[in-house]
Amino acid sequence: MTMTSNSFDTLNLIPQIRKAVAEEGYETPTPIQTRAIPVVLDGKDLFGIAQTGTGKTAAFAIPILQRLSIEGGHERGRRVIKSLICTPTRELAIQIGESFSAYGRHTGIRHTVIYGGVGQLPQTEALKRGVDILVATPGRLLDLIGQGYIKLDNLSIFVLDEADRMLDMGFIHDIRKIMDKLPKKRQTLLFSATMPPDIVSLASAYLINPSRVEVTPQATPVEVIEQSVYFVEKNDKRHLLAHILKDEAVVSALVFTRTKHGADRVVKDLQRAGINAQAIHGNKSQNARQRALGDFKSGHTRVLIATDIAARGIDIDELSHVINFDLPEVPETYVHRIGRTGRAGLSGIALSFCDSDERDYLRDIQKLIGRALPVVEEHPYKSTNPAPVFEARRDDRKPERRPERKPEHKPRNEHHQKPQHEPKKEPKREQPRHEPKKEQPRPEPKPEPKPGSNPAPEPERRRDDRRPRPHGPRPKDDRPFGKQQKKDGLPRVG
Ligand code: AMP
Repeated sequence: MTMTSNSFDTLNLIPQIRKAVAEEGYETPTPIQTRAIPVVLDGKDLFGIAQTGTGKTAAFAIPILQRLSIEGGHERGRRVIKSLICTPTRELAIQIGESFSAYGRHTGIRHTVIYGGVGQLPQTEALKRGVDILVATPGRLLDLIGQGYIKLDNLSIFVLDEADRMLDMGFIHDIRKIMDKLPKKRQTLLFSATMPPDIVSLASAYLINPSRVEVTPQATPVEVIEQSVYFVEKNDKRHLLAHILKDEAVVSALVFTRTKHGADRVVKDLQRAGINAQAIHGNKSQNARQRALGDFKSGHTRVLIATDIAARGIDIDELSHVINFDLPEVPETYVHRIGRTGRAGLSGIALSFCDSDERDYLRDIQKLIGRALPVVEEHPYKSTNPAPVFEARRDDRKPERRPERKPEHKPRNEHHQKPQHEPKKEPKREQPRHEPKKEQPRPEPKPEPKPGSNPAPEPERRRDDRRPRPHGPRPKDDRPFGKQQKKDGLPRVG
């Protein structure tokens, strides 16, 4: 590894961790890592505004591993939990566990991951053997604390991950209960993608004199993604999807539906059409979800159907297509969905189906991204309802600072026609959104789901502060990093 002023060598990491980081292929810390690692190593509280894809997991995992390694104690006698990472979903918990395995592989520090929706026995067995670090979702954590399997008296570092999402999922009471069980003298790290007032008050209640580290939100610039819309009626969407997926140019497709039942229906319809697809959503058992995701990541399954909440936080490399089977009600969700394709300079295609009832959603999306989506005119399931007209009003339009930007991309294999630009002023629709509120009213915290039950509220209707990046590519060092960097030396939007 070359010594540059930016490299991990400047972060005073112990050799065991430097070695692991190098083995992961990381050469340069991401901005959140550069700024957060020294703070955490120093023992200070941290308020990190960063989302998945920015390298935030390593930003807390690396210094935690280092601190616990230096403190020692894990070599002799029974291990006690010294660090707890609380994260909202099973998928995130598993991913964080994998990061601790990777960065901690030469340290001798032991961790385990617990989450609901699966039997507790393997988890309680691992806890009995003793761990230094525990990664947990809130419901199962409280459950196992209640059963006496988990003691937090020796805890010194607590991480609350994706705090905004925890609140959105109704976990506030669980978080409070967990916080009450932690020793008063501890280091607390709070990570959140957005900073609504609830999060600010949570931070001021639980963090002591924190260092605040904020990194630019991750999003693949929408400009690099080929986007188009198909006007199609509800009942024809499945036929249209099958028609599109028969094209081999669709190497891998993540298809978003609004509901879990919708996702299952799409899988069945595709299977009937001879197309293999799997669904990932909260009603699936944990094993089924992991299997579906694994099959998709390995290329074994070409088509994955997901709800927003199930797909969030999941890192899928080299995704060629995102298909919005249903348009999201919240326009920011559109940007977040399509940002999963077109990463690391790969071309990305986002196709959206819009039925007569979804025209308002489309209008909101176009307003948000500041342009009309090209309409695919030539397809066998075209809606006979006249397409709506759209013009991004001058004052709505995001400033375009990329004169070199190409005209609207053509969707592959389909003819399309430029959208009409008849001006039409429409009254602003009241968008049902979750505006940040004070703590109440909140849904009752949900217990960690039992197998086959729904672990999270769906459909996702989260008010998300992410916005498309309207001003062209982000500065290089702001970009989130990912594994792609190993292959091509380029940071990957992850
Ligand atoms: P995270 O935001 O923690 O979910 O990380 C997103 C992706 O970035 C993961 O696939 C990590 O393996 C990867 N990653 C984290 N830090 C670095 C780094 N410094 N260099 C390259 N990849 C990284």
